[in-house]
Amino acid sequence: MQRLTILGSTGSIGQSTLDVVRRRSDRFGVYALIAGRNVAELARQVVEFRPAVAIVAEEEDIPALRLALEGLGLARGEHPELAAGVSAYRAAAVAAETDVLLSAIVGVAGLEATYAAACAGKRIGLANKETLVAAGSLVMTAVSEHGAELIPVDSEHNGAHQCLRAGRRGEVTKLILTASGGPFRNTPKEALKEVSPEQALNHPTWKMGQRITIDSATLMNKGFEVIEACWLFDFPADEVEVVVHPQSTVHAMVEYNDGSVIAQVCATDMRMPIQYALTWPERLEAPVPRLDWGEARTWEFTAPDLEKFPLLRLAYEAQAAGGTAGCVLNAADEVAVEAFLARRLSFPGIAEVVEETLSRAGTRAAESIEDVLAVDREARRIAAEVAEERAGVPAGVALPSVHKG
Ligand code: NDP
Repeated sequence: MQRLTILGSTGSIGQSTLDVVRRRSDRFGVYALIAGRNVAELARQVVEFRPAVAIVAEEEDIPALRLALEGLGLARGEHPELAAGVSAYRAAAVAAETDVLLSAIVGVAGLEATYAAACAGKRIGLANKETLVAAGSLVMTAVSEHGAELIPVDSEHNGAHQCLRAGRRGEVTKLILTASGGPFRNTPKEALKEVSPEQALNHPTWKMGQRITIDSATLMNKGFEVIEACWLFDFPADEVEVVVHPQSTVHAMVEYNDGSVIAQVCATDMRMPIQYALTWPERLEAPVPRLDWGEARTWEFTAPDLEKFPLLRLAYEAQAAGGTAGCVLNAADEVAVEAFLARRLSFPGIAEVVEETLSRAGTRAAESIEDVLAVDREARRIAAEVAEERAGVPAGVALPSVHKG
């Protein structure tokens, strides 16, 4: 029996993970569930999965969680241990009872716990891409020094992990990640100024949380994935290529030195990569739709338009710059996405805020996770300032770069 601690159990990946557990209760159990503020959903999950520990982001939400559990008929004596905050996430991640940490909080809130699990030599199913984007060097060093296992859940990296099993690392010449292209693949660049949050949230192939859905529409998500792939598989950025593949059926490809290309193909259902991360190197029957190879189908592949989607270019540049650039990129994007969702920023304004924040924040080496979190806070402050300056400025108009130096 593998016992899981799930960081972000109430989210899209968290719920898919619990469905994997539900279907294979002979193999998987839950030690700890960690959520943000959705106490109603967390309470429902506690009643169904009976973890030993349930954790929320804020101490003030614990009474509401207790009430919700009682409302669902769970007497006080049957409640799990209830806790709140990052130190509780960390304690659950490294507890002896945790066999696998499923890291699926959105943003950097899960970084410290994920890093702690790496230092404790745990298996980590990594959905949270911000962990490697913000602190790739520190996390990968911890993984190798402490013998942890970092198995990607993100479908493209999970696909690449599978393709890389076909040969040796030294035989690989290129890693290819596919991108759906998002809802604005065919929208002219000029028209992007007018798109609304509702249009951007309408992803053509995947149903996901809000931030990653907007990041998919701007191709920032693909940029994060390029950075994540570089860290996970030890590739330089120029050996990681992105191709737009609107059908989202081929998730990743690996080109070997003899010209052979191995592709990973699967229906768009996150339960497959989640289960793979739990069971690797073994495979188990998974409840995902199968492709009907008797049915005629077309798969398209085209190059991404870096002019229309400058955030992908910025991600390559950030990875090449190294140090804290990835951390700044992620923090600035999160602030800009929030401003866009609140209708305070246009869609092209997201990339403009990120580019300007990268320029004002500069890059340096990060020595520790605390250092990364300090850079993250400062980048958020700068990005909020830039977003504020940008509000009401038509997209494409440059701001006076008073802070540049
Ligand atoms: P969601 O927005 O659906 O869920 C986010 C989860 O994080 C929720 O459980 C939320 O809790 C929790 N959370 C947010 N802030 C905190 C906090 N401070 N403390 C504790 N928990 C917190 O996101 P997704 O599931 O879509 O994505 C999660 C991660 O996985 C992201 O990094 C994303 O990039 C990555 N990913 C997602 C994919 C997908 O298909 N969805 C695919 C590949 C990667 P609550 O709701 O209770 O507030």
